[in-house]
Amino acid sequence: MNLVLFGPPGAGKGTQAKLLTEKRGLPQLSTGDMLRAAIEAGTPVGLAAKAIMDKGDLVSDAVVIAIIADRYDQPDCQNGAIFDGFPRTVAQAEALDKMLAARGRQIDHVLELKVDDAALLARVESRIASGGPVRADDNPETLKNRLAVYYKNTAPLLGFYGAQGKLRTVSGMDPIPDVTKAIDAALGA
Ligand code: ADP
Repeated sequence: MNLVLFGPPGAGKGTQAKLLTEKRGLPQLSTGDMLRAAIEAGTPVGLAAKAIMDKGDLVSDAVVIAIIADRYDQPDCQNGAIFDGFPRTVAQAEALDKMLAARGRQIDHVLELKVDDAALLARVESRIASGGPVRADDNPETLKNRLAVYYKNTAPLLGFYGAQGKLRTVSGMDPIPDVTKAIDAALGA
């Protein structure tokens, strides 16, 4: 099964992706995590991505499509994958469809985690206030830009996947176990 987890920054995609990974044995392919690993490793991709990510803007389609294609060809993706934070533009979604079709595969489900903006901002603020781990792009100013980028570039994918009949929406506002249950129900499992 190939599954896209979709939703605004901070919606809980990473948390649910990890739970789905354990339950279904499919790897989580997070472009955000891969880009942060590239920054950490000091690769040319990482060096180019850092300033863009710190501002909350999008890394180029060509770069993320290339890193996803590389990652998807690893043996652990033979039964599919959970895409987290990818695709983020219509061009990325089209490239993903093409990449999968070339391998005789397709996206089976797209799960949207719906969370309103006020709750997203409150989540970041409480992460900062609690002194927990925060990323360079986890601050109210950058989050506002990440949200604006989400509505402009990423939200149009709801129409793209809706038209393919693959979109399922669950509320991401409920406690984590309830969201997990709603996802299981949406996937028919
Ligand atoms: P979140 O979902 O909380 O916004 P991510 O870890 O998915 O965080 O992404 C962090 C940053 O990495 C994004 O703001 C963007 O700069 C970059 N990034 C991640 N995935 C993509 C992608 N598919 N296309 C372009 N940029 C991306």
